[in-house]
Amino acid sequence: MYTTRPAPFTFHRPSTVDEAVSLLAELDDARVLAGGHSLLPAMKLRLSTPGALVDIGRVPGLAAIERDGDGIRIGALATHAAVAASEVVRGGCPILSDAAALIGDRQVRNRGTIGGSLAHADPGADYPTVVTALGATITAVGRTGTRELAADEFFTGLFTTALEPGELVTSVRVPATVSAAYAKHKHPASGYAVAAVAAVVSVDGGTVTRARIVVGGVTGTPVVVEAAGKDAIAAATDKVPQKLADALGDTYASAAYRRHLASVLARRALATAFERAG
Ligand code: FAD
Repeated sequence: MYTTRPAPFTFHRPSTVDEAVSLLAELDDARVLAGGHSLLPAMKLRLSTPGALVDIGRVPGLAAIERDGDGIRIGALATHAAVAASEVVRGGCPILSDAAALIGDRQVRNRGTIGGSLAHADPGADYPTVVTALGATITAVGRTGTRELAADEFFTGLFTTALEPGELVTSVRVPATVSAAYAKHKHPASGYAVAAVAAVVSVDGGTVTRARIVVGGVTGTPVVVEAAGKDAIAAATDKVPQKLADALGDTYASAAYRRHLASVLARRALATAFERAG
């Protein structure tokens, strides 16, 4: 039967990270609630039927965005709008604020959070692609303590991550870098990536010596393509189609079209990253 009402659940509102972690461990089938912009639609469609929601929205300190040595640490509850508007991010890691500004619509950006997006691991989401390209580190807290997870190893499948049951993402740390850019072909209705590319380049004496491309939206997890040497840009771009043998197709875009988009977007993102490297 079609319904737009969630199945029954209990609601819990912790005021500290420790309390949230304890609730997640103790309650049966508990899920974290952050911005609710992926979880609540899934619950209304009964694609997700958690027995308990642990709303972290009022846990203080989880929305901070600040410099952290040679990087930037972004709290899990920082909204997409806050990341897009942050002077710290715009100045130190503009690829991330660019991507945040391209997410969904104003309402989604005002409610959705970076921690929720990373934990949800939607193949069409923007942050997984960008944090993988940047070599970010995701901090998660669980019953057994705190873990630092490399973005490269975090996204393990469609809507699946390396998080253990009951673990809470508390922040993500990205290295500050300006020589990076994001290009996306978005679905006209939702804004999700039909295909997207994050590119990071290293430049020496006006020449690109290393190119790292990450493709999102095309397969179940972000796909990394790298090349080094004086022809790094051409070499990395040429490798894109062959790395996307498992491209997904759907009613909006075939696998072949997604592969084609990824090659076009890779060239655009690399060109902008090189320009930014100045
Ligand atoms: P929730 O919906 O609250 O949670 C999502 C999942 O993550 C749940 O399983 C929850 O238990 C878990 N979770 C949440 N926070 C944590 C945490 N700190 N630690 C551990 N687990 C946690 N996204 C894009 O990237 N690009 C788009 O263009 C885009 N367009 C959208 C358009 C629409 C109309 C909608 C409704 C959503 C769109 N989104 C898009 C998704 C949006 O960005 C969501 O906000 C995001 O995916 C989830 O963040 P949230 O804070 O809303 O998480």
